[in-house]
Amino acid sequence: MRWTPGDRGNIEDMRGRTGGRAMPIGIGGFVVLLLLSWATGTDFLSLFQNVAPQNAGTSSDRATSSSPAEEQMVDFVDAVTTDAQDTWRELLGARYQPTQVVVFRDAIQSACGSAESATGPFYCPGDRKVYLDLGFFDELAQRFGAPGDFAQAYVVAHEIGHHVQNVLGLGVGESRSNSASVAIELQADCFAGIWGHAASASGRFQAGRVELEPGDADEALRAASAIGDDRLQKMATGRVMPERFTHGSSAQRVEWFKRGMDSGDPRSCDTGAAR
Ligand SMILES: [Zn+2]
Repeated sequence: MRWTPGDRGNIEDMRGRTGGRAMPIGIGGFVVLLLLSWATGTDFLSLFQNVAPQNAGTSSDRATSSSPAEEQMVDFVDAVTTDAQDTWRELLGARYQPTQVVVFRDAIQSACGSAESATGPFYCPGDRKVYLDLGFFDELAQRFGAPGDFAQAYVVAHEIGHHVQNVLGLGVGESRSNSASVAIELQADCFAGIWGHAASASGRFQAGRVELEPGDADEALRAASAIGDDRLQKMATGRVMPERFTHGSSAQRVEWFKRGMDSGDPRSCDTGAAR
């Protein structure tokens, strides 16, 4: 991908103010607990937190230092968010209202409750913001085997896709069945592809926008495949339970991302989520 750092106008930087909560086990442990919870329906995360000490660390003594690589990552998320939002404004006109990306470390309170980094990136319909712990990108590269900047951009664009659904009243955030959840998630994948399509046009970088390079789309397809429900279930339990799918299988996630990427037309993203 080719991109230029902007003014971080889309970023709400909560890295220095997050935390304040004991993190008695590492990120890997949290991911294991999360996957277990998610696969079995039992909330192991809260079970664990109830017995864990709550006193370690305040926000002021937690690491607020950053690295050049992390700062570049914040710039990158901002650039992708700017471009994706500009794209949706071009597609939807005045109907589109911008969102913000809240960047945090370890844990944060949102209008959707408290979140740990192991939750992964998410969109909160309550305050209409995207929440992102930059550590997830390392997880994506190392644990899920999906490295690359466009893999990361796909994750951001997927969450912005949920915001688009919210703006359009497509049912995000309501309590729903697993099949309705899958339809909404696959539509967000398709919406991420819509942005990918726009960002594929040549000459964009010269115009100050994000531009994809050859091979970028493969990174997003690898990421979509890596975080399919069947793959995650297999990692967590060794079994695949389609009735517990909430995001769709790897094949479905790849398919719907491709539909958006190939067409560039939001009307091609009717996964059954729209009512
Ligand atoms: Zn989603």
